[in-house]
Amino acid sequence: MKVIFPDQSSREYPDGTTPRAIAESISGRLAKEVIAAQVDDTLVDLSQPLDGEVHLKLIKPEDPEGLEVLRHSASHIMAQAVRRIFPDAKLAIGPAIENGFYYDFDLPEPLKLEDLARIEAEMAKIVAADLPFERYELSKGEALERFRAAGEKYKAELVEGLEDGTISFYRQGDFDDLCRGPHLPSTGRLKAYKLMSIAGAYWRGDSSREMLQRIYGVAFATKAGLEEYLKFLEEAARRDHRKLGKELDLFSIDDQIGGGLVLWHPKGARVRQEIEQFWKEEHYKNGYELVYTPHVGRSTLWETSGHLGFYSENMYAPMDIEGQQYYAKPMNCPFHIAIYKSRGRSYRELPFRWAELGTVYRYEKSGVLHGLMRVRGFTQDDAHIFCRPDQMPEEIERTLNFCLKLIRSFGFNDFKLYLATKPADSVGEPERWEAATAALQAAIDKVGLPSEIDEGGGAFYGPKIDLKIKDALGREWQCSTIQFDFNMSERFGLTYKGSDGADHRPYMIHRALLGSIERFFGVLLEHYEGAFPTWLAPVQAMVLPVTPDYLEYARTVMEDLRKVGIRAELDSRNEKIGYRIREVRLQKIPYWLVVGEREAREGVVAVSSRKEGDLGSQKVDWLKERLQKEIAAHS
Ligand SMILES: [Zn+2]
Ligand SMILES: [Zn+2]
Repeated sequence: MKVIFPDQSSREYPDGTTPRAIAESISGRLAKEVIAAQVDDTLVDLSQPLDGEVHLKLIKPEDPEGLEVLRHSASHIMAQAVRRIFPDAKLAIGPAIENGFYYDFDLPEPLKLEDLARIEAEMAKIVAADLPFERYELSKGEALERFRAAGEKYKAELVEGLEDGTISFYRQGDFDDLCRGPHLPSTGRLKAYKLMSIAGAYWRGDSSREMLQRIYGVAFATKAGLEEYLKFLEEAARRDHRKLGKELDLFSIDDQIGGGLVLWHPKGARVRQEIEQFWKEEHYKNGYELVYTPHVGRSTLWETSGHLGFYSENMYAPMDIEGQQYYAKPMNCPFHIAIYKSRGRSYRELPFRWAELGTVYRYEKSGVLHGLMRVRGFTQDDAHIFCRPDQMPEEIERTLNFCLKLIRSFGFNDFKLYLATKPADSVGEPERWEAATAALQAAIDKVGLPSEIDEGGGAFYGPKIDLKIKDALGREWQCSTIQFDFNMSERFGLTYKGSDGADHRPYMIHRALLGSIERFFGVLLEHYEGAFPTWLAPVQAMVLPVTPDYLEYARTVMEDLRKVGIRAELDSRNEKIGYRIREVRLQKIPYWLVVGEREAREGVVAVSSRKEGDLGSQKVDWLKERLQKEIAAHS
């Protein structure tokens, strides 16, 4: 047989040679490192005999494919440990997932968190025993018989769903499991793992079926990799916007009102107001007009737009008003289109850029709701651009540049662009798809940022650019989208009078730059760990009189700052100054100004900054100027 390696070199081996033997023929050390092999496009065990002509890549634990094999094998080891501790456990499925794995079990008793340590200890024994993973095959009938006899109803159901023929199993020591493989050569190759949590999960994700218990674990190629990941999780938990939102009194979600519906508290609303104010000003400066539209619309509107066809599962049930059906809007587009259609449009007027902070309602399953990141009601920073074909490329370039400028103003500088192109099923003229895709690509090339093409990944109605931003923890968040729409412009029959006197179809582009205000706020909160830059901070300066004797002077300082628009507050509580300073720090307020006898006498304040510490005694005017500069610079 002929083996072709990734560097295109090749070598002859006897038929039936295994990847392990091939690795050994290269070097003993390599053979010890590798855990699986990729043969052509398929991952296989190291013990799989090969023949014919094959492209072979030997897989190490740290390779992406290797991590998947490792994590998947860890789920078998965990299942073996669970079976040893709970002999009545019925097993469902156990795949690898990002960073780890899970396995679903049907157990007579609910698992407790303490059980995880026991299971982990049992896993350690299995790993220490270094049991080989051995593959064997059974016929479908034999497999069914085995599972039915053992009362493994979930496994039996899985086998029933498989095609006739042989079914592969893996055995490590006293444990057998139905599986396609591949796996680690032996359990001892699992070096770094940890069980993380327990959750409920329906069998086959179907809420009418059995509720199972899912154990989540993580696994990495090395102990250092695991440590690093656990540290990242700790850091992410410290920054969790739900926790910070509570500590800083920014927002809440009330079960009485409903999941995924956000209450903005005064401090959160302050930040949001700053974001929105800035957003509106920038839009006016950049040639947009702002519009306002209703929150509900008649069913005929959503029929015309097509939403009742392709988007209805994301919409709430209609309300009946005077015998007509009204729906809460999941999108703003049909309303902006209605403005366009409110009168005839001429080529001379185009382009129109109409923006709205439009609150939309979309159904999400209660199980997936997550703080501000996944909600049921949210405000899109939406806009629709209607333009002539000759204006379209410039509009796209303009939109992308505006988008980057806006996002950068919030302190994000690490971006990646994703261009999604025409899918197999699509609507719209091929020439328009081509021109639109070319314009998006040209705009991406011009801004010179890292980008990727998602070939065929576009919506059926047009190509788009997604912009993902990286936060302080290196996590990617998708916020901005620039999306062509060939569907709605057709469905609503949008036209403008051309210079030739005939009707023409404009290009219609949806774009949201921050995405959803709720989600963007959540991203900001986690990015800054609640320590907003001065321009966004709900309270920018806290005045702290050393004792109530200086309350009056403190109040004049606060009012002085407020007069020029600085968000100053006064903590007049009769608490020790150290205690109140600690509170200011916990609230992550950018500046605090201590005033006592000397300050009152000399008309100054003792300034401290969150970033720079003690700034000494300063005149209030000095402080005003400093803050105003900082606010204007968004620093
Ligand atoms: Zn497996
Ligand atoms: Zn839209």
